[in-house]
Amino acid sequence: MANPKKIVVLGGGYAGIQAALALQKRLGRGEADIVLVNKHDYHYFTTWLHKPAAGTENPGLSRVDIRDILDPGKVAILKRTVQRIDTAARSMQTDEGDIPYDVLIAALGGEPETFGIPGLAEHAFFIRSLGSALVIREHIERRFAQFKLAESCEDLLTFVVGGAGLTGIEFVGELANRVPELCRDYGIDPALVKIIVVEAAPAALPGFDAGLVTHAVELLKRKGVDFRLGIPVKKCTSEGVEIGDGEFIRAGTVIWAGGVRGSRVLEASGFETTRGRVVVNPYLQAPGHDDVFVIGDSSIVLNEQGKPYPPSAQIAIQQGEAAARNAIALLRGREMTPFRYVYRGTVASLGRGEGIASVGKFRVKGLPAAILKKIVDARYLFKIGGVGLVVRKSGIF
Ligand code: NAD
Repeated sequence: MANPKKIVVLGGGYAGIQAALALQKRLGRGEADIVLVNKHDYHYFTTWLHKPAAGTENPGLSRVDIRDILDPGKVAILKRTVQRIDTAARSMQTDEGDIPYDVLIAALGGEPETFGIPGLAEHAFFIRSLGSALVIREHIERRFAQFKLAESCEDLLTFVVGGAGLTGIEFVGELANRVPELCRDYGIDPALVKIIVVEAAPAALPGFDAGLVTHAVELLKRKGVDFRLGIPVKKCTSEGVEIGDGEFIRAGTVIWAGGVRGSRVLEASGFETTRGRVVVNPYLQAPGHDDVFVIGDSSIVLNEQGKPYPPSAQIAIQQGEAAARNAIALLRGREMTPFRYVYRGTVASLGRGEGIASVGKFRVKGLPAAILKKIVDARYLFKIGGVGLVVRKSGIF
């Protein structure tokens, strides 16, 4: 009997985990070898990272061992970092040797986009992984401790967030909750702490429902957040940021939430990319590479008007299922199905018990939106790990 074909899923984020789950469920025994390659042996919930980053939630809640999600008897789980994909040789170079594939599902996720703004890469923090969230959390707490020792340098207590998209706003919502706790712990007057959001667009949360944006901004202002709207971050140094009108904001901490790009691995591997993202065909394949599916934040799916859907966990999860189905069809010599994205809405948290949500024609704010966010999160946990994972990780029980 011929050796079974090898389907490799590259990346264990929302898209990759979903693809591996679908492959393990749909493929017959011995039909193909399934391999998941990921940098870590755990999967983390990117959409929750603002909480451990601000220090409002136990970081352990945001991660789960991949072996608790996938069946290691059906999926080989390899902890490796991939440097390059050699499409001609159908092989990937990793930190621990090459991994061949017959069909590849590349779900490498996104990376922060700095748009070449000087100093950001060196001096700003990025909420990009569980590890980076922990570094931010520690750094924030250290700033309070340093201020307590110095008592002279108020800049230590100035936190600048660049970008008021969903990442920036959700983080600021948490930080505004965390600051009073830290002030109590360190005996510091809360009036000395400044949280400043700098956003290039004329309004926060560009593209979001205007009424909900107003609610979010007013709520955060009441919690002490200062908004500088219509002003871009121009430069970042170890002392703070220079913004569009020439002003220099001295700050002990700069968090960059100005946007995401695709993975540099795809660029380095010779795929045609726009900011690291591959415009995929309707079956989610990379142009010119029928054996490579690209999904999640490193892909661009165009809508019927030819415009890209914004990257999100929601589209990544749906792509994961669709790519797995098409990879199996390819293997079996059957017809593939074009990907259709079903947008279900957007929910954003604004700190404990607060949020905004846009679902169909409904606009929800306050506690109902925060509850909706919990339901969305619990639904995801249930999807990947059943009731047990909901009980362990949702924070509801
Ligand atoms: P984003 O691109 O949505 O927002 C980045 C913001 O930074 C924009 O408002 C942009 O105008 C601003 N910006 C860019 N350059 C700037 C500059 N020089 N100075 C100041 N501001 C600047 O990025 P994001 O918030 O990281 O989100 C990435 C994707 O993930 C989005 O599609 C988003 O919808 C999604 N997301 C969703 C959720 C959720 O559903 N709750 C949460 C986080 C992220």
